[in-house]
Amino acid sequence: MSLKGFLKLRRTLAYRLTLWYAGTLTLFCVVIFLAFIFLVSSIIQERTDHELLSEAIEYSEILISSGIGGAKAEINREPVFMDMDEFFFRLINTDGEEIASTDMSSWKNVVISRKALGKLSEGSKHVLETLTMPDRPYKVRVVYAKIGPGTILQMGRSLEENDRLLDIFKNIFGIILVVLILFAPLTGWFMARRALEGIEEVTKTAMEISKGDFERRVSVTGRGDEVERLAITFNSMLDRIHSLIFGMREMTDNIAHDLRSPITRIRGLAEMTLTTGKTKDEYEFMTSNTIEECDRLLGMINTMLDITEAESGVGEFKKVAVDITDVIHNAIELFLPIAEDKGITINFSVPARHYVSGDIQQLQRMVANLLDNSLKFTPSGGTVTVEIGEDEGEVEISFIDTGIGISEEDLPHIFKRFYRCDKSHREAGTGLGLSLARAIARTHGGDITVKSRLGEGSFFSVILPKAPPFPLISNSCYANITK
Ligand code: ADP
Repeated sequence: MSLKGFLKLRRTLAYRLTLWYAGTLTLFCVVIFLAFIFLVSSIIQERTDHELLSEAIEYSEILISSGIGGAKAEINREPVFMDMDEFFFRLINTDGEEIASTDMSSWKNVVISRKALGKLSEGSKHVLETLTMPDRPYKVRVVYAKIGPGTILQMGRSLEENDRLLDIFKNIFGIILVVLILFAPLTGWFMARRALEGIEEVTKTAMEISKGDFERRVSVTGRGDEVERLAITFNSMLDRIHSLIFGMREMTDNIAHDLRSPITRIRGLAEMTLTTGKTKDEYEFMTSNTIEECDRLLGMINTMLDITEAESGVGEFKKVAVDITDVIHNAIELFLPIAEDKGITINFSVPARHYVSGDIQQLQRMVANLLDNSLKFTPSGGTVTVEIGEDEGEVEISFIDTGIGISEEDLPHIFKRFYRCDKSHREAGTGLGLSLARAIARTHGGDITVKSRLGEGSFFSVILPKAPPFPLISNSCYANITK
C-alpha cells in the first residue's frame, strides 16, 4: 500500500474502530495475563511455605518427644528421603551457632540471617525469606522457625520446581496472548467493515444519485439495526426529494405546453392590431382582450403555484376547526344563480354540523372547485346532490351529479394538471381545478376519489379527518374564490 493510501485509510472510521478494538482487547488480555501469573505464583509460594512450616512443626514435635538428640538424628535421616541439592536443614541456637545440619556443600552461600534471628527473639514464631544465590540459577525459600527453647530450625528449599511450573504457565499464556493480539486487528477490521457495510452502501447510493440516477435506493436488509434505520430514513428522504424535483419538472413542462397558447394568442392579437388596426375601437378591443388573457394567465400561474405549495407541504396553512357544513352551505348559495340559469337542481340537506381541522380558505376553494365542476358538466334539467356524513373520525363529503360523466380512459387522468376530458374545450376551464382540490384534501390529511360513468353522471367523494368542534371558524365570505 502506498503512503497516500495508508494516510487515507488512517482517516476511515473502520481503521479507528479496529484500532480501538485491538487496543482494548490487547490491554484487557495483558491485564488478565498479569493477574493470572500473579495468582498462580502466589498459590505456588503459599504451598511451598506451607510445606516448610509443616517440616518445622515436625521438628518441634521430635524435639519435645526425643530432645535435641532426636532432632539431630532426624537431620541425619533427611538425605535418605530428600535430594540435598534441593533442600537443606540446619539446627542453630539463638546466637546463630550451628548445632547440626545436612550436607551444606551445595548451600555454601547460605548464611544465617541476623535480621531473621532478631525477629524471632522479638517474638515471631517464624520468618520466611527468598534468597537469590550467585551460584544457583533459581531462587531459594528459607524459613527460620523456633522449634524449642533456644533451638531454631533453618530450612531451605530451591524454587526451581516452582519457577519451572510458572514458566510453563507463562509460555502457554504468552502464546495465547500473542495469538490474540495478532488476531485482534483482523477480527476488529472484519467486524468494523461488517458494521459499516450499510453506511458504505448509503455513501455509494448518494454518489450515484449525485451523478443523476434519481431512481437508486439503498437496499433494506430487514436486520432492524441502526444502519437499517439510516437506510430507511435516507430512502424516504430520497423519495421526498424525488417527488419535489419531478413536481418542479412537471410544472415547467406544463408551463411550456399550456401557458404558451394564451401567450401566443395575446401576441397574435397584438401583432394583428398593429399591422391592420386603424381605429381606436380596434385598439381598445386588443387591449381588453390582452387584459383578459393576462388575468387568465395569472390565475393559472397562481393556481399552479398553489398546487405545488400544497403538494410539497411548504405552504402556510392555518389549521383550526372549521364548520365544513357551513362552508358547503355558503358555496351552494354562491353557485345557486348559475344553477338556476342552467335549470339544475341542487340538493343539500343539513341533518347535523360537521367539523374538520384545516385552513378555511383552502377548504372553500376545494368545495367550490368540485361544485363548479358538477354544475359545469351537468346539462340543463339535471341535479347535483351534495351529501355530508361522518364515520370513524372522518368526514365524507359527496358531490353527485347526473351530468355527462367521465369515460374509463379519462378517469385515471382527471387529477393531473391541465388534463381536460373534452379536448375541444367547449366548457371554460384550465384543467387545474381537480389537481388543486386533491392537493388541498391531501394536505389536510384526506383525499378525493371519483366514480363515474359516461352519460350517467359522476360521484366525487372527499374524505377529511374530523376535528373537535371548538374553536370554530365560520365561513362568512366567499368573495375571492378562484380556481
Ligand atoms: P376544469 O374543470 O378547469 O377543466 P378540472 O381539473 O376541474 O379542470 O377537471 C378536469 C377535467 O375533468 C374536466 O375538464 C372535465 O373533463 C373532467 N371533470 C371534472 N369534473 C367532472 C364532472 N363532475 N363531470 C364530468 N367531468 C368532469
